[in-house]
Amino acid sequence: MPGEEELRRLIRRIDGRGYKAYRDLRGHFDLADLSLHVDHVQGDPFAAPSKLRVRVSMARASLPADWYGTRVRRIALEDLLARRVRDAIERGASRTRGSGKSGVIRVDAGGQEVLERSAVRVCGDWVEVRLEVGLPAAGRRVLGNEAEALLCDDVPALARRALLAEEIPADETRAFVDCVENQEAVRAQLDGMGLVAFVADGSVLPRESGASDRPLVRDPVPFEAPEALRVGVRLAHPTEDGRTELSGLGVPKGITLIVGGGYHGKSTLLRAIERGVHPHIPGDGREWVVSAPGLVKIRAEDGRRVERVDIRSFVSDLPGGRPTNAFSSEDASGSTSQAANIVEALEAGATGLLLDEDTSATNFMVRDARMQALIHADDEPITPFIDRVKELHQELGVSTVLVMGGCGDYFEVADTVIRMRDFRPEDATTEAHRIAAEHATPRHSDARRPLSAPPARVPVAHSFDASRGRREVKIDARSLDEILYGRETIDLRGVEQLVDRSQTRAIGHAIHLATERFMDGRRTLGEVLDDLDTLLDAEGLDVLDPFHRPGQHPGSYARPRRFEIAAAINRLRTLRMSSDPSPVRSPA
Ligand code: ADP
Ligand code: MG
Repeated sequence: MPGEEELRRLIRRIDGRGYKAYRDLRGHFDLADLSLHVDHVQGDPFAAPSKLRVRVSMARASLPADWYGTRVRRIALEDLLARRVRDAIERGASRTRGSGKSGVIRVDAGGQEVLERSAVRVCGDWVEVRLEVGLPAAGRRVLGNEAEALLCDDVPALARRALLAEEIPADETRAFVDCVENQEAVRAQLDGMGLVAFVADGSVLPRESGASDRPLVRDPVPFEAPEALRVGVRLAHPTEDGRTELSGLGVPKGITLIVGGGYHGKSTLLRAIERGVHPHIPGDGREWVVSAPGLVKIRAEDGRRVERVDIRSFVSDLPGGRPTNAFSSEDASGSTSQAANIVEALEAGATGLLLDEDTSATNFMVRDARMQALIHADDEPITPFIDRVKELHQELGVSTVLVMGGCGDYFEVADTVIRMRDFRPEDATTEAHRIAAEHATPRHSDARRPLSAPPARVPVAHSFDASRGRREVKIDARSLDEILYGRETIDLRGVEQLVDRSQTRAIGHAIHLATERFMDGRRTLGEVLDDLDTLLDAEGLDVLDPFHRPGQHPGSYARPRRFEIAAAINRLRTLRMSSDPSPVRSPA
């Protein structure tokens, strides 16, 4: 590998030349105790920055093996190191060094959640950070002295500060990794305890603002579980204050209703449970809110496309005889979109559904006795959720947590009723059941046939086209909730459990990979999602690089759940599904 002198010599040679001359730097350089890898050079100073990696041998970095000894710990450490790199960048490594993006240094570190991501990789032999760097230019000419300072001094110094054990506070690091492993230990206990979620006493659930995911600092009311629903969970490591067990609310399997007056904290509790599928950083306030991994938020999403979804359990006998066993729509209504969202979640393997009245279609949730008297069942295609929620649990083992302040008809079907009062939960189960018995409602079930489990659908690979113009693969995340997929855009605004734009990007590339490797016209969507999970578990996120350049900077990815991948597939407007898992012929 050429060394630092060679790198400096190369930079001096191209100084003042056109920007394309930077391509001469592609390759690997041995810079004393670390190596610099220039994988991709941007076309001009205004384009997306160049992609570089810095690798340090483990012999030099000396990270203690117990920081990354298990899969969970490694992911936590990688996440933490990416944050350290970002901190170092923010403390001054990134600065303007010419035109356009000259001098910019970026790393893809996370927010309040701890996710598997591609920004840092740790293995037994080395630790590596993946950076985006704007190579310096004056106008469109190579600015050699700035490039030398950036690549030979600042980037290596940054990597040393962030990645070498001697620079890293050991106690803080161990506490971070332990905290994440503890959260996973709690998650592993939920199923055996008959729970879908755990919310520890003392948690801070509200956020700073609608635009910030940080904890509310001004007078939050800490969470305190009601006695009747309080459970204890064991931790794998003592917390920083020495606790080895936590107490808190256990949200049981079955049907749980969160009730309470407006503005008393119902949606805030549900949102914490939604986010609880991912671990959180220490100090988030929700690091001890831990949910079952298969919980999926369901909402109404009118306008979305639906492709051959069997929504018969919720919608049947539409006017005009439109079939609902393979319902398709370019512009679904509130209720049909919510029905499709549920059926698709079940198809992807959801074990629990999370619903909030704030984002549900009223006519999908309930039809009260008076409406049943006025509108004959024959004239109402919708079987409301209230008439399916028990079957979902009894027949399919799928639990529901539902925020409902406006309709007491749900008391009848709820196993557990949590009342939020001034941001404090109370157990109102007995009271709600007594009220349901005393004020019997004349409403009857609208279900005309038993709930049907969703039939398998087979995604048709050629309905996904990642090409755009001359580019064979053009996929990117425009924002957290928008994927550019070839000439299509996939709107994910209704997919509320996405937390990181790098997950969105990963979803786009995971879909493309699935079309290449797994969608063979036989495999069902569920099987394709299984295949993707297996591949990502085995090979990590680097496998998502659409150009398949092993060992190079793969781009910025964070691990998405299968439910969000399925949600994106289901929202692609060109998607075709076949319900027949036999070889699919291409249309002429
Ligand atoms: P609901 O769904 O019952 O109408 P929300 O959950 O939307 O109520 O909460 C209403 C407001 O109260 C929000 O601004 C939220 O941030 C705030 N809030 C929620 N929980 C707490 C809490 N524990 N402490 C302080 N403020 C809270
Ligand atoms: Mg609300």
